[in-house]
Amino acid sequence: MAKLYFRYGAMGCGKTMQLLQVAFNYEERGHQVCVIKPKTDTKNGDKLLTRIGPERETDFCFDKTVDLFEAVAKNYAGVACVLVDEAQFLTKDQADQLMMITIQLDIPVMAYGLRLNFRQEDGGFEGATRLLQIAHDIEEIKTICECGKKATCNCRFLNNKFVSKGPDVLIDDGTSKIEYRALCPACVEKYKREEN
Ligand SMILES: [Zn+2]
Repeated sequence: MAKLYFRYGAMGCGKTMQLLQVAFNYEERGHQVCVIKPKTDTKNGDKLLTRIGPERETDFCFDKTVDLFEAVAKNYAGVACVLVDEAQFLTKDQADQLMMITIQLDIPVMAYGLRLNFRQEDGGFEGATRLLQIAHDIEEIKTICECGKKATCNCRFLNNKFVSKGPDVLIDDGTSKIEYRALCPACVEKYKREEN
């Protein structure tokens, strides 16, 4: 039976790179895949970009009202795999619809995303929370903090300053520099003390 996979990791751990690698492996062997992502990630338009170069167009981007099961059943029922980038931005229902794709269409789904928002609080990413609850197979993609330890936290820096408060999605209007860095919990605590 097809499975729902959730691959999570902090910013810059190479999630999109892994997704593109999986797509390449399928296609190299003559299989079609369906690559999708939520529209919330506006900075790259419809494209998936990676820091180290490779990029690719999505098959479709979707907003929170789209039924992913219906969309895949209608137009992509013959694909070998569905690949979802930025899966933290799914709604709970959309995460459940990914599960239905594996059950009813027997197509494996691999979802890639952040586990937690930059405030390190629950409730920030409905899609990630739901995928952690229901996925058949959950694995962390690891990355390194600036101190050299394992990074697990996704942190926001505004004009090079650590910030622990604010909305989940900050729209880049060009007036300030918005950055996300993967940090270990010890460094997060250190930055939090300095923040106040
Ligand atoms: Zn650290």
